[in-house]
Amino acid sequence: MQIEAAVFRKVHEPLTLEAIDLDQPRGREVLVRTVATGVCHSDLHVVDGVGRFPLDRPIVLGHEGAGIVEAAGPDVTSVRTGDHVVACLSGFCGSCAQCLSGHPNLCTGAIVARNESETPRLSLKGQPVRQFLSISSYAEKMLLHENSVVRIDPDLPLDRAALVGCGVLTGVGAALRSSGLEPGQTVAVFGCGGVGLSIVQGARIGGARQIIAIDQFAQKEEMAKRAGATDFVNSGEDDPVQAVRALTGGLGVDHAFEAVGIAKLCRQAIESLAIRGTATIVGVLPPDATIEFPWMAIRPECKVQTSRMGSNRFRMDIPLYLDFYRQGRLNLDDMVTKRGRLSDINEAFRAMKAGEVARTVLTFD
Ligand SMILES: [Zn+2]
Ligand SMILES: [Zn+2]
Repeated sequence: MQIEAAVFRKVHEPLTLEAIDLDQPRGREVLVRTVATGVCHSDLHVVDGVGRFPLDRPIVLGHEGAGIVEAAGPDVTSVRTGDHVVACLSGFCGSCAQCLSGHPNLCTGAIVARNESETPRLSLKGQPVRQFLSISSYAEKMLLHENSVVRIDPDLPLDRAALVGCGVLTGVGAALRSSGLEPGQTVAVFGCGGVGLSIVQGARIGGARQIIAIDQFAQKEEMAKRAGATDFVNSGEDDPVQAVRALTGGLGVDHAFEAVGIAKLCRQAIESLAIRGTATIVGVLPPDATIEFPWMAIRPECKVQTSRMGSNRFRMDIPLYLDFYRQGRLNLDDMVTKRGRLSDINEAFRAMKAGEVARTVLTFD
């Protein structure tokens, strides 16, 4: 069948809306009518040519999608036609060592994409069009493996649920699952985009006593405070490490999070730690990035660790975080700062670069 999709063909050039072909679901695949998709930084990284993925083009980007199942392959067992689902890039096999030990976000099984020898899911005039992260949500419909989606309650708004598929899952999970945060501890979050603001919310839900949000854009202060930050540091004006020390009586914080993917911010996060503090790097750095810090900067028994997609078990965590939303503990409404249609995708990238938004959400009907 033909669908409309935003196709990425050339680095630094706008995506183009095109009619492409979508195959039928086979085996364990589901066909999902896209209702909403968030616009995530990882897509922008690809457009700007700084992604860690060596990507063949043309490709349909987008990976923060939610929608309604229209058809299912003969071997699908977890969802059925009419179900509301959220897609997640942490598609899992269920049988590798990481999956079996409770870490499906680190799955090495690679079953959610089709093999190179098979008919591609997306194509144009018989030529393959690549699928981003086995999702490709910048399109009217998504064809994906059932282990790339989770069913959610149908009363939940799909435009906000979509965000939980990537940015919110990553940020809330970094605080609640990866970091080891305990109630009453202190937190600093470097970067207040969609992920950083979700870390702030996760830290609040996890019982942090002080949450210092740091960003170079002054307009992020209000968003950060609404998310639960107790303090805001404008890193365009003040040295963030000194500011964190000053705000914590010289101690530093128990947990520092890097939410952008910049080596300098990783160093600042490490330098902001208290004794026995933990720096959790959530952002994705360029593959050749080097994080350097003076020995003096790291206090006794500090830890530096990374977090991949919020250490999620997304089949459990997405419904859990949506319960937090329903209970008023997780604010998704304020995360959507801009709305648009698929044709607004390039404007959404511009707004993200300008630091104007937590998230743009594109809707399809
Ligand atoms: Zn993402
Ligand atoms: Zn696996």
